[in-house]
Amino acid sequence: MKGIKLKEKCPIDGKIAFLEGKDNTYFFCAYHYFAYHNLKDGYHLWNEKLEKKLSWEEYLDTILKLKDKSDNLVGEWVKDVISFLLKKQ
Ligand SMILES: [Zn+2]
Repeated sequence: MKGIKLKEKCPIDGKIAFLEGKDNTYFFCAYHYFAYHNLKDGYHLWNEKLEKKLSWEEYLDTILKLKDKSDNLVGEWVKDVISFLLKKQ
């Protein structure tokens, strides 16, 4: 099937990454793929609601801090993805 990569490995845990990111930048396994896209969707929602816009990095940082306060708010998968994205910069 077009758009599905079988040979790519998730850069976070090395599992087979069978889903292709919308922007073709990252290839994640299913768990990290969904976490990544939840983050991106959340970023757009966040900036729609707030007067002070956050940069992508500021947003990731904020979400990571939320994680410290409440384990229920942000899952482990999301935390993995944020750590990965911040390391890449
Ligand atoms: Zn993964």
